[in-house]
Amino acid sequence: MSQPVRVRFAPSPTGPLHIGGVRTALYNYLFARKMGGQMLLRIEDTDQNRFVPGAEDYILEALKWVGITIDEGQGTGGPHAPYRQSERKDIYRQEAERLVSEGKAYYAFDTAEELDAMRKRLEEANAPAAQYNSITRMQMRNSLTMSSEDVKARMDAGDPYVIRLKTPRKEEVRLNDLIRGWVNVHSSAIDDKVLLKSDGLPTYHLANIVDDHLMGITHVIRGEEWLPSAPLHVLLYRYLGWEDTMPQFAHLPLLLKPEGNGKLSKRDADLGGFPVFPLEWKDPFTGNVARGFREDGYLPEATVNFLALLGWNPGTEQELFTMDELIASFDISQVHKAGARFDIQKAQWFNHQYIREQPDATLAPAVQQQAEAAGFACSLEKAEKITALLKGRVNFAHEIFGEAATIFYAPTAYDETVVAAKWNADAVKAVTAFHDALQSFEDSFIADDIKHLLSDTMQQAGIKQGKIMQALRVALTGLGAGPDLMLTMEIIGKDETISRLNKALNTLKTPTN
Ligand code: GLU
Repeated sequence: MSQPVRVRFAPSPTGPLHIGGVRTALYNYLFARKMGGQMLLRIEDTDQNRFVPGAEDYILEALKWVGITIDEGQGTGGPHAPYRQSERKDIYRQEAERLVSEGKAYYAFDTAEELDAMRKRLEEANAPAAQYNSITRMQMRNSLTMSSEDVKARMDAGDPYVIRLKTPRKEEVRLNDLIRGWVNVHSSAIDDKVLLKSDGLPTYHLANIVDDHLMGITHVIRGEEWLPSAPLHVLLYRYLGWEDTMPQFAHLPLLLKPEGNGKLSKRDADLGGFPVFPLEWKDPFTGNVARGFREDGYLPEATVNFLALLGWNPGTEQELFTMDELIASFDISQVHKAGARFDIQKAQWFNHQYIREQPDATLAPAVQQQAEAAGFACSLEKAEKITALLKGRVNFAHEIFGEAATIFYAPTAYDETVVAAKWNADAVKAVTAFHDALQSFEDSFIADDIKHLLSDTMQQAGIKQGKIMQALRVALTGLGAGPDLMLTMEIIGKDETISRLNKALNTLKTPTN
């Protein structure tokens, strides 16, 4: 039997999770569920300079909001705890020291000035890349060029040092990316990366590989920005002696600007007036607030559906997917190589699809609140009817109240084009007859009954109903188009309907034809 799939989402708590990070988490989740495997959450917080308070909680909340459940890791627990890298320092140091003792890494004491001087020297000599590598390392201050006594003396004196990988000069590094196929790199293109920093914390590269190994990760699914690091990671697996169980890699395509050129940024979002974070985020240092999909009114189901199709599709016409359907259809090998254009209109379209499917009772309380805040009495029952009438016409739930303007406000003006075209003698006759019929109408005032009353009245008056509907609408709402008129009348009620018709008959000039 093959090994059970284990994937991980490994964000750094350096600020709010970008929506691209949510997509990465989602693809990991879909893959894990599809394969009957497990998903871990690991917090990669080894860069203390970039640590932002609140970011970890934000990540947990964002995952919860979109419905990604974590099987093991930060916030859930599990056999490989702790899942915060800053709490695993000793593990990384041990592995880094092991590499040094095996001759695969070394201590380096170079100061920032010495490193600068090296770069300058190489640039002046027109060296192809100013790097700490198999050639330059022999001119630097490290345990390869110093005597062991000197090294010991410096360490005893507490001099700062790092541990660097002794990258081989001539070695072929290959990896077979599940999305991109074979990636080949020559080790001469890889510099002697720092593995352990002078603050005793590991770099991303070391910590990431050590943890993926110890946590039994089988597949690393992450953003394309990590593709250039992947050969180094393969090299690290080799040097650490773990190449046999090295995970498979899948690098996801970038999210591109709405115009399709270049990587999507927060600035694009600000300019375009749309969010690039799942939840609203208040910067703890500046107090600036960045908008979130949730607060902008996107439903989590719509957000998931939108994100899932940014860089993948099952090759069919189907666009609407529940999470379970996504899991059933997801195939990592079908993920695109090319970047995915971030089209916020598509996100709105998805939201529209999901809002119209929401139960009226779920959306109605907010409509009621908005109406009451605007000074209108609105029962929950009325709010539900308004919701049923209008939810199919909006992208966001908070737009329902705005769409209901013609319900809450009697018209103060009438669309002139419609009046000119439709407010004729027949229309006046029909509206008058209907107005009179309503006054003696005693049945329940519901759409079906109103409809019958209208058609009976028109029949008696000998008027074709189709010809006067727009005139009736303009009389009731001031507009030439809108939602179902019978339901509109039901919601505004009999008295208000009569009063609006009365007002229109008095306000609009009686045509002479
Ligand atoms: N900590 C890295 C990030 O935030 C993780 C990259 C990876 O998945 O290897 O992007």
